Amino acid sequence: MEKQNVPELFGSLVFNDKVMRARLSDDVYVSLRKTIDENAKLDESVADAVAEEMKKWALENGATHFTHWFQPLTGVTAEKHDSFISPSPDGGVLMEFSGKELIKGEPDASSFPSGGLRATFEARGYTAWDPTSYAFIKDHTLCIPTAFCSYSGEALDKKTPLLRSMQAIDKQAKRILKLFGKDDVKSVRTSVGPEQEYFLVDEEVFNKRPDLVYTGRTLFGAMPPKGQELDDHYFGVIKPRVIEYMEDLNNELWKLGILAKTEHNEVAPAQHELAPIYSTTNVATDANQLTMEIMKKVARRHGMVCLLHEKPFAGVNGSGKHNNWSIGTDTGLNLLSPGKTPYDNAQFLLFLCAVIQAVDDYQDLLRLSVATAGNDHRLGANEAPPAIISVFLGDELTAILKAIKNDTPYEGTEKVKMKLGVDVIPKFSRDTTDRNRTSPFAFTGNKFEFRSLGSSNSIACCNIMLNAAVAESLRQYADELEKADDFETALHDLIKRKINEHERILFDGNGYGDEWVKEAVEVRGLSNLKTTADAMPKLLDKKNMDMLMSHEVFTEAELKSRCEIMLENYCKTVNIEGLAMVDMVRKNYLPAIERYLFRLAQTTSLMKQVSDNVKCNYEVSTMERLSELTDYILDAVTTLENTLATFKGIDDIFKASEFVRDEMIPNMDTLRKYVDEAEMLTSQRDWPFPSYGQLLFSVQ
Ligand code: ADP
Ligand code: MG
Repeated sequence: MEKQNVPELFGSLVFNDKVMRARLSDDVYVSLRKTIDENAKLDESVADAVAEEMKKWALENGATHFTHWFQPLTGVTAEKHDSFISPSPDGGVLMEFSGKELIKGEPDASSFPSGGLRATFEARGYTAWDPTSYAFIKDHTLCIPTAFCSYSGEALDKKTPLLRSMQAIDKQAKRILKLFGKDDVKSVRTSVGPEQEYFLVDEEVFNKRPDLVYTGRTLFGAMPPKGQELDDHYFGVIKPRVIEYMEDLNNELWKLGILAKTEHNEVAPAQHELAPIYSTTNVATDANQLTMEIMKKVARRHGMVCLLHEKPFAGVNGSGKHNNWSIGTDTGLNLLSPGKTPYDNAQFLLFLCAVIQAVDDYQDLLRLSVATAGNDHRLGANEAPPAIISVFLGDELTAILKAIKNDTPYEGTEKVKMKLGVDVIPKFSRDTTDRNRTSPFAFTGNKFEFRSLGSSNSIACCNIMLNAAVAESLRQYADELEKADDFETALHDLIKRKINEHERILFDGNGYGDEWVKEAVEVRGLSNLKTTADAMPKLLDKKNMDMLMSHEVFTEAELKSRCEIMLENYCKTVNIEGLAMVDMVRKNYLPAIERYLFRLAQTTSLMKQVSDNVKCNYEVSTMERLSELTDYILDAVTTLENTLATFKGIDDIFKASEFVRDEMIPNMDTLRKYVDEAEMLTSQRDWPFPSYGQLLFSVQ
């Protein structure tokens, strides 16, 4: 590949601050900046001026179309391209783009999921420009990041509630910072750096697996002789073909101003990871959606397919996403960073408590924010954090909290009292905080890392919940502290009380162990929501609805519709998998086993004709077991077909998702078990689809 000038390449397809400053008049620039930084209302003349410059810039960079780019509840992004052309009097065309077109779009969106919202309120939805996320060019199209709403203002996307949750935490955090005398802070924003895992398989091999093509994961497949046992892949030498892919991918991402930074092999064969440098949450969300899209697109160019499913192969580690999250101010403070002065330390501990309390009070919301049919295969499967949410703080911070709680000196490298606002927290090194990889929610020095996300999840969902829940803790703290006569004493008491109240969520041990499940549920009373069908209905628990509505993150109608849509997604996904299984079994697996049985039978009878002494032990024993298995397979596939038929008749979405969990998935598992056993007994020549070994080692 050609050498690239990265600084020149970086952001070359983004209408970013540098471009705006260079191209917009001073007045327009200042006014737009005010909208971006302080959510100020944008007036129409400014929009027209921005649109005109955006269009000129886009045309210079090869664009012919524009689109409002948004994130409907399908989980992928949506776009509808319009060209800039408009007829001119002389029979030619002009390239036009107005402020109106920039600000608002009306996609015919009737087929996006709305959970009844559009049906109830208005037939159509509209998209509204989000100026805080820069416009960019992709496929000769100017993409304008937007929010997607119904005409009555209900959000139909993931972006709108995310922006609302950011406003909620901004508002409450500023109340707290005021109490600490930080009046100069104009805005508080959360930042995220999402680490993204993925698999690469050869395109030709991929195309031969209908399950991968239809569902993104393998529905059948016996384990290969070599899996990930040797751990030789993790951080191993990257194969040349993959290196070329990564270079190409980086270039594409850099052009779009995405800060792709780290890349390495992951634990499973064919598994890799990409991590960007962190950015403001809504920008990071857009960037992660784009990253996933471009990962897939670039892979095809290299004759490969990028799998973003969280569990493409049973028995092999699945793919997750780590949501590294922090809160910071426009003045450059990271509020999750231990401070240098006693006062700053108390502030740090208060924000730390706010997060701990948020995770404890809203475990179920965090859990359901990452719940999908695909991710259900990972959580709790001894390869990813358990479905139980807990917080890891590391030895030193745990000891500090304990000292505060018990009014005892903290015994770190030196003995110190922990009177807040008086004593300095001893410096603890960042390295010691990141040892536990089994924790779903770990403090890593100056940020929290939420590790339960599946690789294909939009990061919007978990950040909406996290921001809102932390805003709620901060609201409670601000309510209490604003009334206090003696701030320092009140602060000390509050922190101490919070440690006591929420200690149960702190856990530094092995999250993969069975003992933890027992302790978490039976002793500590933490929730263990194993599947999407268990988790999602919790969205409608009164405590959760009250909190999300009080911070104006969701309306009641939005919550109800979202719960329905997420459960619908779950049911639809599994239903498609079930149908694909039936298809593969009836059309391919059973006939293939039959073919092999025929060959074995033919061989046996020919051999017996040659000599009476041949026993044909291999042929006969294989035939016996395979024939038995075909009977089991037939039974199992018939049962699954009946299950799929019954499922069709269930209208209530809660009942349907329980049926999927209790009937459909277990029946699918049974069917798979027999087919996988048959695979081990059947000649590879007769087996209709590439094996796990061929898939996992297809990219050499
Ligand atoms: P690792 O987890 O491999 O040790 P890091 O912790 O440095 O690496 O970074 C992992 C991810 O966390 C990266 O995407 C990085 O940009 C992001 N990150 C680092 N600091 C912060 C922060 N203060 N807030 C949010 N994300 C951060
Ligand atoms: Mg990390």
